Amino acid sequence: MSAATSNAGKVPKYRRVVLKLSGEALAGKAGFGLDLNVVDSIARQIKDVVNKGVEMSIVVGGGNFWRGAKGEAEGMDRATSDYMGMLATVMNCMALQERMERLGLDTRLMTAIEMREIAEPYIRRKAIHHLKLGRVVIFGAGSGNPYFTTDTTAALRAAEIGAEAILMAKQGTDGVYDSDPNVNPGAHKFERLDYLEVINRRLRVMDATATTLCMDNRIPLIVFDLDVYGNIERAVMGERVGTIVGRE
Ligand code: UDP
Repeated sequence: MSAATSNAGKVPKYRRVVLKLSGEALAGKAGFGLDLNVVDSIARQIKDVVNKGVEMSIVVGGGNFWRGAKGEAEGMDRATSDYMGMLATVMNCMALQERMERLGLDTRLMTAIEMREIAEPYIRRKAIHHLKLGRVVIFGAGSGNPYFTTDTTAALRAAEIGAEAILMAKQGTDGVYDSDPNVNPGAHKFERLDYLEVINRRLRVMDATATTLCMDNRIPLIVFDLDVYGNIERAVMGERVGTIVGRE
């Protein structure tokens, strides 16, 4: 874990953001399930950002437990498999919420599938209200619809709540490349990209539906490496930490 960033006293570039965390980002090296040390480290980074006065919301994936496509590949009905994926996201959300609350953050988990014993139902105006009060809002259960992804959910929620940017935290990748840098040592890293380039070149930033939604609503994406401690804060402060898609 590296030292704190050098942003003391500076004003954040973005005041309201959506952080997209894939399920795998919470699984650590095991690649499956949850590594609570990793979740704790993410929670600490989020706390640093909230302390800067940033309104922070988070969309969490579920790929560390289940993906709709996996069930389908094994002969399962796609919609059922997708609903299972959405439920998987909720376990991740609860772990992240627990770690953040332990650090003293005020949080709310809002789910797109109602499960009132553990979360509030997603209500847009209520989510905005929580954010204005400095609460971290976690969006669980994706969009509540099969055939979508949590990337699309991040784009949708960002548009709905008027987020100024989506922080696409990637694991072990410090931006968007024209080919896989692990395979091709000469791979070129993009500083900036246009949404259409992402779609046309099939770059692995987020899926096409999500990218289109961001393009239509002019929401910039910042793609950065989550494994470098402090990068969430750097991204929010406007430091160059990876690749920017769209206009800042
Ligand atoms: N999912 C869905 N609708 C949504 C969001 C997610 O059906 O709006 C399902 C889908 O099956 C997906 C799974 O939940 O595969 C887990 O989400 P995702 O794959 O986006 O998680 P990540 O890759 O970010 O861990």
